[in-house]
Amino acid sequence: MTEQTHEFQAEVAKLLDIVTHSLYSEKEIFLRELVSNASDACDRLRYEALTNPDLIKDDPEFKITISIDEKARTLTIEDNGIGMSEQDMIDNLGTIARSGTSRFSEQLTGDASKDVTLIGQFGVGFYSAFMVADKVTVTSRRAGEETATVWSSEGHGSFAVEPGTKETRGTQIVLHMRKEAKEYLESARLRQIIKTYADHIAIPVILKSAAQGEEDETLNSASALWTRQKSEITPEQYTEFYHHVGQAFDTPWLTLHSRAEGRIEYTMLLFVPEQPPFDLFNPERKSQLKLYVKRVFITDDCEELIPAYLRFLRGVVDSEDLPLNVSREMLQHNPVLQKIRSGLIKKVLGELEKKATKDTENFAKFWGNFGAVLKEGIYEDTVNGERILKMSLFNSTGQEERTNLADYIGRMKEGQDAIYYITGEDLEALKSSPQLEGFAAKGIEVLLLADAVDSFWLSRVNEFDGKPFKSVTRGGSDLDKIADAEEKAEETDKTPPGDMDSLIALFKTVLENKVKDVRISSRLTGSPVCLVADEGDMDIHLEKLLKAHKQFGASDNLRILEINPKHPLIKKLAKNAQKNGSSTSLEDAALLLLDQAHIVEGDPVANPVAFSKRMADFMANSISN
Ligand code: ADP
Ligand code: MG
Repeated sequence: MTEQTHEFQAEVAKLLDIVTHSLYSEKEIFLRELVSNASDACDRLRYEALTNPDLIKDDPEFKITISIDEKARTLTIEDNGIGMSEQDMIDNLGTIARSGTSRFSEQLTGDASKDVTLIGQFGVGFYSAFMVADKVTVTSRRAGEETATVWSSEGHGSFAVEPGTKETRGTQIVLHMRKEAKEYLESARLRQIIKTYADHIAIPVILKSAAQGEEDETLNSASALWTRQKSEITPEQYTEFYHHVGQAFDTPWLTLHSRAEGRIEYTMLLFVPEQPPFDLFNPERKSQLKLYVKRVFITDDCEELIPAYLRFLRGVVDSEDLPLNVSREMLQHNPVLQKIRSGLIKKVLGELEKKATKDTENFAKFWGNFGAVLKEGIYEDTVNGERILKMSLFNSTGQEERTNLADYIGRMKEGQDAIYYITGEDLEALKSSPQLEGFAAKGIEVLLLADAVDSFWLSRVNEFDGKPFKSVTRGGSDLDKIADAEEKAEETDKTPPGDMDSLIALFKTVLENKVKDVRISSRLTGSPVCLVADEGDMDIHLEKLLKAHKQFGASDNLRILEINPKHPLIKKLAKNAQKNGSSTSLEDAALLLLDQAHIVEGDPVANPVAFSKRMADFMANSISN
């Protein structure tokens, strides 16, 4: 087989273009990326060798070596990790294989200055090599295989792959340095970069001596960061480790380093990111926490270790009690792992509670990023759900900032004995829901719940601190019970409900089979009508959500149409109905008002043609010349 040329995936080509042509200031991070990959490769081989020790028999000491050739102007980074086959190289060094890639490429604007910031958040990985090199040659031999492959590219749209030779397993990356990147051929500079970015790497990073007779030099501490004493770790080291382990480039919002001793022993070093990761809302809800056993990396795909609602966490858990040769099957229903999991949840929730009470402003930031994820725990975690609910923050009518439930309860009106809420898809649309009008008029706060997850936990949780949750779109509104002074004064103005009887009777006849009931509303002040769900029926928004996910049979629950007796149109219609009885225009009015109520809910109009004809007729009748 001879050399084959391959095109880079479109996203990679874009990325390379930005990386090489725009002034991405932090060029030195190329070394962090390559050393990080080398360390991952060693971790992966160490794991494979647990079941297949022959793979590392001839060379059991993992290491990463860096060598400088000033004359040839090359920098070489080599590891004795797992290596890559030809196909691995084509797949891994020609695409962005990482999850979240599609979101990443969607967000690329083509405007270099904006994209550089995006890349800063996403990370450039292997391709950062082209920031300092105008040619990169990768020679790799997969552990356990005899043949090697050479990958090379100048970073302009394509790369070449051909068979090669390599004495030992692993990957060697030769960077042909650009003239302006000469500084990275100086040992002092490399020493400094490794100290800054890769000190936490658990494998030795060795700088090969340039001259004969000189000793090779180990540049890093080469002990796993989480095994060191807290007092010996600087914030910068924690941050760098977070970058490595979390493939993230922000500063962690929270760092949690703790050791559990006693019957079961484990160490965890966890981070809450400052910026939400790209894949946070992927339907797989995957966590990326890394599980180690006695310093050996086992997996970063372990559902048993951490619940999905904490998937924003990054970091490692290192257990002393699991066997090293733990298999995937063993991880399921493993009692040790279950203990670690519950310990981890307790610790994390405890830290978050502290922030929620002592550092509210900062906690609000966290909540903005991850609240919608954490809330999944309210219904998924039967043990800790209540704790999560307690620290949860919600948008609420009349409140600038999000509020917690205790504060909401503190502001409840006299006579109010429920926590009122409305759910929907869009916060702004929710704010103008007609069902809120009566509550606003009486100054009663209503929680505005716009996350999809809200409908789910609400279907499980009935109350908080003895106060039931009540949807303002369901059941009677209780508003009469919470009457206040102003409302009483207005009472005299109210058209006596008696006058509405004929109109309601007429609406009921016309809308039979379309609504469950027609009744007078106490929750409306400005709008003529609204729809509500009957007391025992499912909340309108939840039903919509379930239908969208095909979780609910085709049967539609009919809604109740509430009419506002104070609205001028309703008043007129009521008078007309009382005087003249049924008529075509009153029937049209009933149908039109129902369609309107549906439109306000964001529902489609059942029959748009009939709707628009009726509307035109109605307008023609009502506009006098
Ligand atoms: P990431 O590390 O986030 O996956 P990179 O761009 O840094 O992204 O690397 C892409 C992939 O290339 C890695 O996931 C890995 O599969 C492969 N790779 C890179 N460097 C090495 C290496 N030194 N040894 C083995 N595989 C490597
Ligand atoms: Mg990488």
